[in-house]
Amino acid sequence: MSNLKYATRLLALALCAGLAPAALWAQTVPPRPRPAPAKPAAKPAAKAKLGAPAKPAAKAPGAPAKAAGPAVRYAVAFPNAVHHEARITATFAGLPPGPLRVRMARSSPGRYSQHDFIKNVYYVVATDGADHPLPTARPDAYGWDVTPGADGTVVFHYTLYANRSDGTYAGVDAQHAHLNAPAVFCYALGLENRPVEVQFNALPDWKIATQLQPAGEKNTFSAPNWAYLMDSPTMLGAQQVRTWEEDGQTIALAVMSPDTPAAVDEYMQRVQQVVREEKAIFGELPTYDFGRYTFLANYLPQATSDGMEHRNSTSLTAPRDLQGANALSNLGTVTHEFFHAWNVKRIRPKDLEPFNFQRTNMSDALWLAEGFTQYYGELTLRRTHDYDDAAFFDKVSDWVSERLNSPGARYTSAVGMSQQAVFADRGASIDPVNTANTFLSYYYYGAGLALALDLELRRDHRATLDQYMQALWQQYGKKQANFAPTRPYTLPDCQRVLGEVAHDTAYAGQFFRRYVYGHEQPRFAEDLQAAGLAVVPTHQLALGEQVGFDPQGRCLVAGNALIGSGLYKAGLDVGDQLLMLDDKPLRAPADLDAVLKRHAPNQIVSAQVRTRAGAERAVQLLLNETASVQVQRTEAGAKTPLTPAQQSLRDAWLASQVR
Ligand SMILES: [Zn+2]
Repeated sequence: MSNLKYATRLLALALCAGLAPAALWAQTVPPRPRPAPAKPAAKPAAKAKLGAPAKPAAKAPGAPAKAAGPAVRYAVAFPNAVHHEARITATFAGLPPGPLRVRMARSSPGRYSQHDFIKNVYYVVATDGADHPLPTARPDAYGWDVTPGADGTVVFHYTLYANRSDGTYAGVDAQHAHLNAPAVFCYALGLENRPVEVQFNALPDWKIATQLQPAGEKNTFSAPNWAYLMDSPTMLGAQQVRTWEEDGQTIALAVMSPDTPAAVDEYMQRVQQVVREEKAIFGELPTYDFGRYTFLANYLPQATSDGMEHRNSTSLTAPRDLQGANALSNLGTVTHEFFHAWNVKRIRPKDLEPFNFQRTNMSDALWLAEGFTQYYGELTLRRTHDYDDAAFFDKVSDWVSERLNSPGARYTSAVGMSQQAVFADRGASIDPVNTANTFLSYYYYGAGLALALDLELRRDHRATLDQYMQALWQQYGKKQANFAPTRPYTLPDCQRVLGEVAHDTAYAGQFFRRYVYGHEQPRFAEDLQAAGLAVVPTHQLALGEQVGFDPQGRCLVAGNALIGSGLYKAGLDVGDQLLMLDDKPLRAPADLDAVLKRHAPNQIVSAQVRTRAGAERAVQLLLNETASVQVQRTEAGAKTPLTPAQQSLRDAWLASQVR
């Protein structure tokens, strides 16, 4: 998935965008109850064809030969798209005696928190093959038990509310549908190995893009089993599609956006460069299950920014077209998600296999699966010349700064941060959490480790991180069977491969002990010096980033006070108000700026504060600086010429690897 900034950064970004903290807090107020909806139509709008023989599902080499029963057939229609509803029918035939246990997924591959997609399912009706109602029970909050009739068939109808077009949920409107399968399709326990067929009753002029296999009939697709269906998002709407052949396989780019064909052509060329650059890292493309990989690019204004990796496709969503700088922003998700076709979908942590759709999926390895992918997403854009040096070094500065500023990273390992994904990765909660002090996103944590490791391999071991990724690919990713890796990895596996690539098992052991299982800070300054880069502190005062003004002109602590900050030491925390600073009243951002301009970092000023409980008091406030840095070329800043070794390391690191 693509990077999600953690809570404090969201707050900081929202503040940058001019949103006052009060506006953010207001979002936690529950909306007023809505009036009851109108009754559903007596007849479902879409019905699967009953009694028709199941078609054999498309089969890839290594797929199981024996049929697990008749195909589960879904029909998806959009009779009320303008109100974001889809009507879905699932037909389960050839059932054994006993209740059919129908469920909705509670999690989604590539997202690590719990979602309970059943919350958007209603107007549920179960019938037999002749449309007679069947008794339906709710054994728990997560599904239904249906007793089949004599014909051994259950037709399960439901309405889905879908109003978020991104990689995790589902979005439907009159213009398009963007469907993440776990949010859409119910399933039956025990029938997971049956082949699947899906018919989309698409609106006129809608095209369909998906990694599912065309199944003969119009708008009908198949999956070899339910798990493959769950991994297969589908994008419907007016699309511009471009395809090309890459090493005997088809790469398709399907774009929904208001852009001209020329803009899509130009974008396709940039996507092509990314595909070739990342292929060069691993030495080859994966063998896609059906010889085809599809980018599902939804750049409509109603899309929500996200990216989600899948075996043979990726869901790319953003409310941005391809004009001007937007194209590069969108391309940043392409580089990240395409890298995942190797790293996480095929080079896969053992603790994510098999994926559990009924609970959260915790992994120790997201610093590698996501963090290294984050690193390569940005490095690829430098290698394709979509970034210049300065743009790439800004990303490097972010990784280093986030690590240096994070109180949580001082005592939590890469493994520990990965384990927090089940709550941090879009796991919404109403009760506040202290992630500002306990969590550093494994994207940043892992990207920082990738950076340090790459530079150390190049400087000390005549090796590269590219070679490490390629070795992981050869040993753990390349061989796949039944649409899954045959040999998912453990962390000791990764350590062993690092020892091989570095020709130094002691180094590999030390790296994992210090930085993966331990929480030692990488030696960024030393490592970056090998590429002729200096780590220069920015000497920013922290206070300006930690407070914000609400519409009433109150200067409020905007997020959890960071351990070690002046606010923290003065006993102030989120929601407390700064009334006066250095004897000047604070009523607008300009008042604060004027005071801060007069002070150097680490001076102490007097402040008058009002706690969120209403008590006023005077405090002494340390104006600490952040630990943020800017990574700069040494030859530009201090005018120190690069050594030949620094020059050649930097050139080899940043140059295109396409031969
Ligand atoms: Zn990702």
